[in-house]
Amino acid sequence: MDIDYQSCLNEIYEETKGLLGKGKVADYIPALAEVDPNQYGICVHTLEGQTYYVGDAKTPFSIQSISKVFVLSMVFAALGDSIWSRMGREPSGSSFNSLVLLETENGKPRNPFINAGALVTTDCLLSISKNPLKDILVYVRNLANNKYINYDSVVANSEMETNFRNAALLNFMKSFSNINNDVNEVLNTYCHQCALMMSCEDIAKAFSYLANGGINPFNNKRLLTLSQTKRLNALMQTCGLYDESGEFAFCTGLPGKSGVGGGIVAIIPKLLTICVWSPELNKHGNSLVGMKALELFTTKTGISIF
Ligand code: GLU
Repeated sequence: MDIDYQSCLNEIYEETKGLLGKGKVADYIPALAEVDPNQYGICVHTLEGQTYYVGDAKTPFSIQSISKVFVLSMVFAALGDSIWSRMGREPSGSSFNSLVLLETENGKPRNPFINAGALVTTDCLLSISKNPLKDILVYVRNLANNKYINYDSVVANSEMETNFRNAALLNFMKSFSNINNDVNEVLNTYCHQCALMMSCEDIAKAFSYLANGGINPFNNKRLLTLSQTKRLNALMQTCGLYDESGEFAFCTGLPGKSGVGGGIVAIIPKLLTICVWSPELNKHGNSLVGMKALELFTTKTGISIF
């Protein structure tokens, strides 16, 4: 079946743009509160190499928690299954920055996509990399095939100045010996990875390896084994949208990952990736328009992994 992706994106854009103004831009990181809330873009990138856009799909934005997938890939490839002794693989059912479960679960985060788990993941990277910020940048630039991707130091510093909750998570986990490096160094790397600036086009392209069995289609380099790729997609499906992961799976039926910058990326294995960006969030911290747009995409195209 030939699908007219461009017409589909145009239709979705028209049908959802009326939702702009109904959510709220993240403001707990002061620099993110400055973002123009009316921006909205979608990009589809197929494994055959075609790219389709609508709206502000080429405007770089703060990827925030979408970065957790890249860093997890890096450490999963390097350290293999040993990482699972330090974090679980179950949905948490709590908000992305919650401290609640850590106390009863002895400092072991439920999964790598809540903040606690992502901080453990970043700690793993610091243990294996002499220059983690450079390594992350090289990794992401190769994935997106864009050498201009960079960190926004204003966003990173703004988060560093107000990052009491992530500092609390790190210190708490360190008391259970689940953080091996200096807390401030982990925090600094984490805030920078979250402050990567990428467009919908960059992100859709950068996630292609997860639709492509672990191989980066831009340089044919294998980054994850088939089994690791399956596991990462499964984690995105069950835990990628915080305490709205079930709703996202119900509405779209796809592995996905969101960030409080308003981006959501989703993967259709062996076929394509899609990234939507609209900075206004719903009460779970996910892009309000992005959730609807992705639901409409799978409904209109009829594509499903099930
Ligand atoms: N840097 C953000 C934080 O740690 C990321 C959260 C997100 O995108 O969900 O609060």
